Amino acid sequence: MFIDLRSDTVTKPSKGMKEAMFMAEVGDDVFGDDPTVLALEAKAADMFGMEAALFCPSGTMTNQLAIRVHTWPGSEVICDKYSHIYLYEGGGVALNSFSSFKLLDGDRGRLNAQQVRDAINNPDDIHQPTTSLVSLENTMNKGGGCYYQLSDIEKIRTVCNEKNLPLHLDGARLFNALVETNESPKNYGELFDSISICLSKGLGCPVGSLLLGKKDFIKKARRSRKVMGGGWRQAGFLAAAGIYALENNIERLREDHARAKQIGKVLEGLPFVKNIYPIDTNIVIFELPETILASDFVARMKEQNIGCVVFGKHLVRFVTHLDFTDEHLAEFEKNIRKVG
Ligand SMILES: *Cc1c(COP(=O)(O)O)cnc(C)c1O
Repeated sequence: MFIDLRSDTVTKPSKGMKEAMFMAEVGDDVFGDDPTVLALEAKAADMFGMEAALFCPSGTMTNQLAIRVHTWPGSEVICDKYSHIYLYEGGGVALNSFSSFKLLDGDRGRLNAQQVRDAINNPDDIHQPTTSLVSLENTMNKGGGCYYQLSDIEKIRTVCNEKNLPLHLDGARLFNALVETNESPKNYGELFDSISICLSKGLGCPVGSLLLGKKDFIKKARRSRKVMGGGWRQAGFLAAAGIYALENNIERLREDHARAKQIGKVLEGLPFVKNIYPIDTNIVIFELPETILASDFVARMKEQNIGCVVFGKHLVRFVTHLDFTDEHLAEFEKNIRKVG
């Protein structure tokens, strides 16, 4: 049995999800008449109390579209130095939006209002790029799945309002934060101009992300999605999986968080574990001693049928998900003890 903890993207559709996909009523989404895509977009917009939504193939695309619509060539995007939009989107902001970043040094990837305020360039200074957007990530992947307090986001929103700047959320794993804080998606819909959420992570869909925002924003994003080749046709088969996920797979994220904490407990006693990041949601990051390279360690884990990823020279990441059960956890514990 291979225990795949490389990412929460590795899940396969469940029986119920497959049935929902199989039964989906579909149409041509480029013509705007796939009823299942329309239903998913309406459902998500309603959940967040936002005007409109756009169903896309990936979270990279929803982030890139949002940045493209909010910014203009030569402008600057404020985000943390650990942000997915900076580290893991192939330089897309330079390519798609001709914009640069101002990277901040947050608390495990989380920014505070003062940092954001200090980072906004004076629009009257012609030397500096004009700040066009502030982007936050919740939960924070590179920070080990930590999440924001809503009150901290409210303060950042206030700064954005004062400076007339839009605020974007990379909420690839937002639902992981919401089940921990018991906040509602509507709390987030009120605070952000745009939100990207992934259906293909903890929610267990094979493909798909949603971009949420105002009607005119989504209209522009839809045009840019087409330009990028992301206009898709009978996408309702995939949207059906999304509807199923929003209805069935949110509350159970708590189980993933509990198992992540269990992994932490297992790691505590092991000789090659130097330090474990706090485990807040479904991501576990730990540090190896300087004598062990993460790349070597990941290869040795694979020999013991455990999948994990290199997250730094001496950092390793595990992510729990809906295909990782208690049975897998027991097997994980047994196998990791064999790694020398
Ligand atoms: C996974 C992820 C994305 C989007 O990833 P895709 O693989 O393109 O769907 C965006 N932001 C964060 C924080 C992520 O973890």
